[in-house]
Amino acid sequence: LTVLGIESSCDDTAAAVVRLRTSGADILSSVVKGQNNLHAVFGGVVPEIAARAHVEQLDICVEEALAEANKRLSEVDAIAVTAGPGLIGGVLSGVMCAKGLSAGTGIPLIGVNHLAGHALTPRLTDQVSYPYVMLLVSGGHCQLLLVSDCRTFRRIGGTIDDAPGEAFDKTARILGLAQPGGPSVEHEAMKGHVKRFTFPRPLLDRPGSDMSFSGLKTAVIRTRDSIVADKGGLTDQDRSDICAGFQDAVADVLAEKTRRALQEVKTELGKNPAFSVAGGVASNAKIRAKLETVSSAFGAAFLAPPLALCTDNAAMIAYAGGEQFQTGMRSDMTLSARPRWPLDTTSASLLGGGK
Ligand code: ATP
Ligand code: FE
Repeated sequence: LTVLGIESSCDDTAAAVVRLRTSGADILSSVVKGQNNLHAVFGGVVPEIAARAHVEQLDICVEEALAEANKRLSEVDAIAVTAGPGLIGGVLSGVMCAKGLSAGTGIPLIGVNHLAGHALTPRLTDQVSYPYVMLLVSGGHCQLLLVSDCRTFRRIGGTIDDAPGEAFDKTARILGLAQPGGPSVEHEAMKGHVKRFTFPRPLLDRPGSDMSFSGLKTAVIRTRDSIVADKGGLTDQDRSDICAGFQDAVADVLAEKTRRALQEVKTELGKNPAFSVAGGVASNAKIRAKLETVSSAFGAAFLAPPLALCTDNAAMIAYAGGEQFQTGMRSDMTLSARPRWPLDTTSASLLGGGK
């Protein structure tokens, strides 16, 4: 089964061609065009600018993906497109593009939940079998999921306010570091002393796997302000020490909540599930290391897909769409773009339009 995937839910326009095998898949091509240069001056993604850029880039991405895969559109068996959640203008651009291609060729269409794409990525890269536990940590999301099959996801826990990536970005802004904040905070933290500032580990004192990261940002502001009040400004060392303390707090929270989720699933299933991560924050070496320690202490296999497949891409959409297609799911021309689309729903509502 050869699937063309299309992704445009945030600030990356992407297209990919993936061939599903009996188990696992081959990525024949995966084209991602970022928009960082367009949004940098605004200090964040501007939805209208993103949507316009998607419209300009989608056709080019699709053409490049097909060319790189050495396929004609007519050789594709299904067209999978992110139908949400995300910035509505971007999602709409992608859905329109996919519907156009499907209507013009008669190739079946399938609307894919972007989060399902992330959640099924370890199946694309590692041939892991169901069920497994997934930690999705990015700029917009933070959830622990039990993935039972390609259409059944259960939320075990997650953030009740900010996502960790957002906390990294805000911390960078507070300290005057470059955006996106994750890589710059991680870089600064390497020169810092973890123990100089102790930041809160919110909700660790409460049972369950829910998390909170908005208080960390306030703690960072307070720490900065008290240093500035004392000494008139921040030295490079102050900045590095704050970054190290902040990163350590985020890593501890993610690791402990993951441990609890693994425990909960183990109790329920009577066996160890495999464990996988996705999302930009999962590229943080310190966080990855703590998560790996937790899962190996548990005897759970730790699957960390390569970075390019952890962040937004269309190969994961093509793969997720392909697997769902094989179970009989299809969308029709009533497929609509959804700004919000929780993954933790029954499979019937996993499709924007269709069966
Ligand atoms: P979505 O949630 O819809 O997938 P997104 O575009 O924010 O959206 P990603 O591209 O997966 O998702 O992740 C980007 C986020 O990851 C940013 O907030 C960024 O700061 C964070 N990030 C990237 N690298 C690192 C790192 N090394 N350490 C910590 N955070 C990082
Ligand atoms: Fe994403």
